[in-house]
Amino acid sequence: MESETLFNEEEEPPGQLTGLVHAKNNVSDFLLFSSEIAQPYAVKQKSSSALFPFKDSARSRIFRTNQYPDITRLEWFDWRWQLHNAIRDVDTLSQIINLSDNERQAMMHHSGALPVSITPYYASLLDADDPADPLRRCVVPVVDECLHTAGEEEDPLCEDVDSPVPGIIHRYPDRVLFLVTDTCSTYCRYCTRSRIIERSAHRSLNYEKWNTAIDYIAGNKNVRDVLLSGGDPLTLSDEKLEWLLARLHKIRHVEMVRIGTKVPVVLPQRITPALTTMLRKYHPLWMSIHITHPKELTPEMSAACIRLADAGIPLGSQTVLLANVNDDVATMTRLVHGQLQIRVRPYYLYQCDPIPGSSHFRTPINKGLEIIQGLRGHTTGYAVPTYVVDAPGGGGKIPLLPEYAIGWENGDLLLRNYEGNTYRYPDNHAMLKDIH
Ligand code: SF4
Repeated sequence: MESETLFNEEEEPPGQLTGLVHAKNNVSDFLLFSSEIAQPYAVKQKSSSALFPFKDSARSRIFRTNQYPDITRLEWFDWRWQLHNAIRDVDTLSQIINLSDNERQAMMHHSGALPVSITPYYASLLDADDPADPLRRCVVPVVDECLHTAGEEEDPLCEDVDSPVPGIIHRYPDRVLFLVTDTCSTYCRYCTRSRIIERSAHRSLNYEKWNTAIDYIAGNKNVRDVLLSGGDPLTLSDEKLEWLLARLHKIRHVEMVRIGTKVPVVLPQRITPALTTMLRKYHPLWMSIHITHPKELTPEMSAACIRLADAGIPLGSQTVLLANVNDDVATMTRLVHGQLQIRVRPYYLYQCDPIPGSSHFRTPINKGLEIIQGLRGHTTGYAVPTYVVDAPGGGGKIPLLPEYAIGWENGDLLLRNYEGNTYRYPDNHAMLKDIH
């Protein structure tokens, strides 16, 4: 366990205060103990949503001091500052990490669908000198992105075919995917939806289009579950997010809403007391957090997840299996164990989707099976995600498991356990069925 990165920060004091009062108290606490109160920005930016009352980790503190010497702690903890200062060009990025020739070329001649964007916070986690750093591989392009191989498609899951109105993907009868924005704070180079990210047609998602999507959901009584995704829904303001949640909450047949997000990982400052106070009004609300590697489990990210869990939001993780990033049992074990400590249940392990330029990220299917085999039985069942292939062509998620049932013999089911030993289960019902 990376114990030095978990739970070693100040905890928020408990209390039942409203978000605004709570946040105001934190302003006072912060100002009392901060040497930066004289900064004009701190005085101007006292809104509750600007604050994240946890200490920054030593790593990000050193990074901020070195890379952003004029930036106050309060600015650093302001998620809007992080968004506005996301690193998007080669010159800024090269001041922060020593770009390899390969990365520099990819940045300079970048012509693919997916722009580059990295929050300063997430940049603080990258290894400045090692292009093989797993987090760096996820967000800094390389020339392999230009290599398009057989079977790769812009929309490999055929989502656009199942889109009855803009922003809605209705594949399974009882649930819909609602793409509420085309923006993320940090772009993953393997993004399944790179075709829609920051595209003008989707960028104009606005209240009118949201209304059309909500009308569609209201008009389909079999939709009991709505997954807000994008882009990243938590890049929206509290007001816009609440506008959406309040409307969905009013639809009687919508039993639950889920939010798919990477924000707690790449922009933990976004998880403010004001946000969680607002979110808890719309239960049952679930959240799936896109987590890739144990290096992402920082004190800031841990604090953000614990705050969401304390707001009563069940947290699950979605992890994409990526070559030379997280494709070994030891890394995945550290990841799932770390997640459980911050109350995030490993939910799905995805085989990487075949978008154009993804071959350097994709692993053989056997690698995923090997990882599940290395987890199942070797650790608590809560720690084992379901390994799925989202079937190209629109077949939906198909779970894959190593072979544990190895056949029948004389009416017994032959089973292989996690140690490779064989056991028998008297499967009399199957035998009786055969006789009749
Ligand atoms: S957070 Fe999700 S939607 Fe955004 S770039 Fe990463 S994979 Fe794509």
